[in-house]
Amino acid sequence: MSRVVVIGAGLAGLATACHLSRSGHEVVVVEAEHAPGGRAGRIDRDGYTFDTGPTVLTMRGLLDDVVSAAGGDLDALLPMRMLDPAYRAKFADGSQILVRHGHEAMREEIRTVCGPADAAAFDDFSAWLKKLYDVEMPHFIDANFDSPLDLVSSPAAAARLLGLGGFGRLGPNVRRRFADDRLRRLFTFQAMYAGLPPSSALALYAVITYMDCIEGVWFPDGGMSAVPRALAKAATNAGVELRLGQRVTEVLRRADGAVAGIVIEGDSEGGERLAADAVVCTLDLPVAYRRLLPDLAPPRVVKKGKYSPSAVVWHVGVRGGLPEGTRHHNIHFADAWDSSFDALIKQGRMMPDPSRLVTVPTMSDPSLAPDGSHVLYVLEPAPNLDGVVDWKTQRGRTREELERFLEREGYPTDIVAEELVDPVDWEAQGMERGTPFALAHTFPQTGPFRPSNVEKRVPGFFFAGSGTTPGVGVPMVLVSGKLAAQRVTDYLPAAPAWKPRPVRRTEVA
Ligand SMILES: Cc1cc2nc3c(=O)[nH]c(=O)nc-3n(C[C@H](O)[C@H](O)[C@H](O)COP(=O)(O)OP(=O)(O)OC[C@H]3O[C@@H](n4cnc5c(N)ncnc54)[C@H](O)[C@@H]3O)c2cc1C
Repeated sequence: MSRVVVIGAGLAGLATACHLSRSGHEVVVVEAEHAPGGRAGRIDRDGYTFDTGPTVLTMRGLLDDVVSAAGGDLDALLPMRMLDPAYRAKFADGSQILVRHGHEAMREEIRTVCGPADAAAFDDFSAWLKKLYDVEMPHFIDANFDSPLDLVSSPAAAARLLGLGGFGRLGPNVRRRFADDRLRRLFTFQAMYAGLPPSSALALYAVITYMDCIEGVWFPDGGMSAVPRALAKAATNAGVELRLGQRVTEVLRRADGAVAGIVIEGDSEGGERLAADAVVCTLDLPVAYRRLLPDLAPPRVVKKGKYSPSAVVWHVGVRGGLPEGTRHHNIHFADAWDSSFDALIKQGRMMPDPSRLVTVPTMSDPSLAPDGSHVLYVLEPAPNLDGVVDWKTQRGRTREELERFLEREGYPTDIVAEELVDPVDWEAQGMERGTPFALAHTFPQTGPFRPSNVEKRVPGFFFAGSGTTPGVGVPMVLVSGKLAAQRVTDYLPAAPAWKPRPVRRTEVA
């Protein structure tokens, strides 16, 4: 039996392992930390449970695919609820729009708040989003590329995307559809998730708006860190070995250059050597080249490319009640818009008038904080470390500004526990340029132009995660795991005599 090693038990690594779990290969996941999750991590402090990374969980079906690939049952492993509203959007003039689940409910919300013309426009808009998703998902997202020519390997799909206006600009497209400026912001801010200003992002990135506003937003019991724990359980139930608290320091190669295994940091001289026929690496890709393949030049785009903006996240455990109208996800849109993205993305400065996300997971699961208390997750976009911000001074300033912002908006500020994470911290956690959101999804950094998930100079070495295809965010990295698993099974067909192994159960805390 061949052995496949997956480096990293973040969502990409766990998805890879689940997809490979029944491939006939022995699968070992090696994770440096003592718990699975990576960026989807968790901090427990003073009775508060903080999710450290993603809070907006979309595309439940992709999680189902991963768990099913390992023979698991998502409902049993990861109970979750649909959030309705998915978001509360609060605007600078004090007005608000709820992003409701289901077409009729959202249409009615738009009719009530913005008027009948925009409600009618929503019919056409949501149909357009669905068409974009249907053409992009199978042909351009859930697809392995070997060369840019693959883009035209399905000319009908490319023509359809062109016909749908996918190569036009998102901002002007949505502006043409809706008269109310609040809706224009609500349906385009998601471009930021791809590291792009809404005005200049290609319309094809509206597929993120589809995932967010149409497919719905979910919240798992126990918080977002329940997601990696469930995937780890699915994988280990299917026979995958999960080694936690073991850091990979080297990739071993055979004389012909192909992968031979890995070295794990350890007490014994030189560390532990673990032989492998294939390796899937999920470290942030530029960092992986530096640390594990130091003799290989990374793809050009890794050095010269544009990285997404970063974020400051302030985790706060507070005593007290919430202001009326608070929902699980609250986006506080500022007055400024295009100028904010200019500051953030073009000038590398803090947004002078920032929009912020406040997630209150205790609204859905009160067990995440002591009685009478709440968890607040406050996120403000910030430039990555290519920008001009001096984080030694900005860190304290941002913390003060965020506290004043919470007070202004009526959130409780009797702080019991807190943790602030800035771009310097993201860099220390192994994220290139201090951004957890990888290379931006500009067109020349997307699809076949993004760093490939195959390192051809080291046969048997593959990548998954946000630095490779298809890209950043929970749905994309789950797909990246499936695509990497396909690469492995193309490279290492299962032995003809392979039979499923007995289930080995490893307890995951
Ligand atoms: C603040 C924040 C907010 C976000 N919000 C959202 C959101 O709302 N919705 C959404 O969809 N996405 C969101 N994302 C993005 C999403 O969380 C990431 O794209 C995704 O979790 C990345 O998963 P990954 O497996 O590729 O990487 P990681 O989670 O970084 O996994 C890599 C793993 O490798 C391990 N590792 C590193 N070096 C070694 C080594 N040498 N040996 C062994 N193991 C090693 C790390 O410990 C880590 O566990 C957010 C991210 C952050 C940080």
